[in-house]
Amino acid sequence: MSSELVIHVTGARPNFPKAAPVIRALGARGVAQELVHTGQHYDDAMAKVFFRQLALPQPDVDLGVGSGSHARQTAAIMTGLEELFLARRPALVVVYGDVNSTVGAAIVAAKLGIAIAHVEAGLRSFDRTMPEEINRVVTDQLADLLFATSPDALTHLGNEGVRAGKVHFVGNPMIDTLLANLDRFDADQARRDHGLNGDYVVATLHRPSNVDDPDDAAELVKAMHSVADIAEVVVPLHPRGRARLEAAGLFSHDRLRVIDPLGYVEFLGLVRGANAVVTDSGGVQEETTILGVPCLTLRANTERPVTITHGTNRLVTRAELGFVASQVLSAGRAADWPVPPLWDGRAGERIAEVIEAYVHGKGAAGEGRD
Ligand code: UDP
Repeated sequence: MSSELVIHVTGARPNFPKAAPVIRALGARGVAQELVHTGQHYDDAMAKVFFRQLALPQPDVDLGVGSGSHARQTAAIMTGLEELFLARRPALVVVYGDVNSTVGAAIVAAKLGIAIAHVEAGLRSFDRTMPEEINRVVTDQLADLLFATSPDALTHLGNEGVRAGKVHFVGNPMIDTLLANLDRFDADQARRDHGLNGDYVVATLHRPSNVDDPDDAAELVKAMHSVADIAEVVVPLHPRGRARLEAAGLFSHDRLRVIDPLGYVEFLGLVRGANAVVTDSGGVQEETTILGVPCLTLRANTERPVTITHGTNRLVTRAELGFVASQVLSAGRAADWPVPPLWDGRAGERIAEVIEAYVHGKGAAGEGRD
């Protein structure tokens, strides 16, 4: 009898809110599954807190790969997964998003002839200087089931020659997690916890384009200080780039507070009550879209344009940030805004339905729709 085991591979912070609803929905269907944590993010704030807060099962395997250069980290992920996949022989490996664990797992599975499902397929920034873009393109070429979160992703996959029958437009599992936990995001508690009385802005900053080069970091600090001139700013700072931003003087404005990364529930409580968010995160662009919080994305492009056409997001340069932030703070929040299609809290369920059919060999999921 062939295996019907599904192995989920997660490794970094943004993977966990995407995987949780898929694992839950597959569990409810009685599909055999195991969870691997590669340990790309490994400490309490960046990983363990998500397992607790999102009621994720404890990982069946923790590879403990830790940090490293892209090549070293991806190699460690691949070496660990090859051994595991050979021993467990899953029917399907499910990978999430665009991190090194995503592409590492996809390459290993493809070479062992194991089917791959990619959750959040088809997002494109068209910026190959982003390591995430490389991970997305490679993973989508190797995947057998591609789960898209927005209609533009379907176009990109078609343009790259991915057969339409493999692609499923299912909505956004990260938004499933957001909607399922909405009652726990307590903005008043966040204000009390952080001693905030007036207008405030939350910022998350970690992309190489903002923090790796000292000149970029200096420009970013200047931009963030211009926001702190008009409102209190709280920055739960990602470990990536922390030293460089500190060296560039980020911490030296008395209305800008740098804190450690927050737990998922605490972070979104803080975001929920914010007058605006400044970010270079992918997931935060999506979460603010549903929470209705104005989002200023400090990037030249986004792989999530649906958050601009249907959400509260806009791209800003570092040079214009202070000016745009002051406009946004005086305009206040929009009373109403469109929501991206199928961001309705049921993506995990839709994904599980396709996966179950696939691993049970029922009706050859996705075949014949070209
Ligand atoms: N997040 C969190 N605590 C924080 C900052 C972010 O829980 O202090 C969550 C955020 O709500 C989202 C995810 O982390 O669910 C996004 O991860 P990140 O920005 O690291 O990755 P990206 O989305 O850019 O790949």
